[in-house]
Amino acid sequence: MNKLQMIYEQAKQRTANGQVASYIPALAAANGDLFAVSLLSAEHEIELGDCTETFTLQSVVKVISFMVAANYHGIEEIMHYVDVEPTGDSFNSIVRLESHNNKPFNPMINAGAITIASLLPGETMFEKVKSVTTFLEQIIGKKVHINNEVYFSEYQSADYNRAIAYILQANGFLKSDVEEALQVYLQLCSISVDVSDLAKLAFYFATNGKESEAICNKGVINIAKALMITCGMYNASGKFAAFIGLPAKSGVSGAIIAVVRNGEIEQLQGPIGIGIYGPAIDQVGNSVAGIEFLMHLSKEYDLFCL
Ligand code: GLN
Repeated sequence: MNKLQMIYEQAKQRTANGQVASYIPALAAANGDLFAVSLLSAEHEIELGDCTETFTLQSVVKVISFMVAANYHGIEEIMHYVDVEPTGDSFNSIVRLESHNNKPFNPMINAGAITIASLLPGETMFEKVKSVTTFLEQIIGKKVHINNEVYFSEYQSADYNRAIAYILQANGFLKSDVEEALQVYLQLCSISVDVSDLAKLAFYFATNGKESEAICNKGVINIAKALMITCGMYNASGKFAAFIGLPAKSGVSGAIIAVVRNGEIEQLQGPIGIGIYGPAIDQVGNSVAGIEFLMHLSKEYDLFCL
């Protein structure tokens, strides 16, 4: 067993310390014992664990929606609607929506992501969702679909997100009506992927979008990475930056992308994209095994990049 496999095996044992997300009924049905990792460089891919599993992107999609909206409107316009400051609060917190000129703090928390959903290019809900799926499909090189069971389950239990959307609307931070913004946001959270798709997405950031069909302004990619560092792992982003030191984004499905700009992990060299699926999550919402894996990976392979 090589060092990488040992790190994987050790991290997998941590799944027992987490719990699958229960506040979205369809996610509560996931198997918390699963743990899958995919690492991708220009020339090789290493897959470990339950890599055939599919799951929904959840908050990982927030990075992509931000890029699509910022690419379309330009950063200056986007900054009128959403800031780029971390909050230290949980992802669905409502508490700061009456401070800071009522503007959502950043696009990685639900408030900012719902505003971004309303700003996506397109006249209809369908076109807005498509603007993001098309961009994602160009990155991962295959068609994606929405998991409707997860979408309907979320839509029916979206009281918190609906409350956030109404506050955003009341303060002029929503470009569409409440229900359309929610439908777009929740459909995007429900895009179905596998761990290899996540690695491709992370690899896109690792190469700054080079060699991909998905065209994105370089400045926007830089801000997306900065947002991942400062806000990508919810209110554990500070600790993640301090002890792991990689741009990363997580979702409550147990998905994580992590970006290595230049590293060496077994036979992989140079820019490396890491995709993780481990549905047993901690109190904050991050995959327990995923965090453990990245912690040891960063240390053992000297990946800390800040
Ligand atoms: N769809 C989820 C929600 O809005 C996404 C949250 C997450 O992954 N943190 O609650």
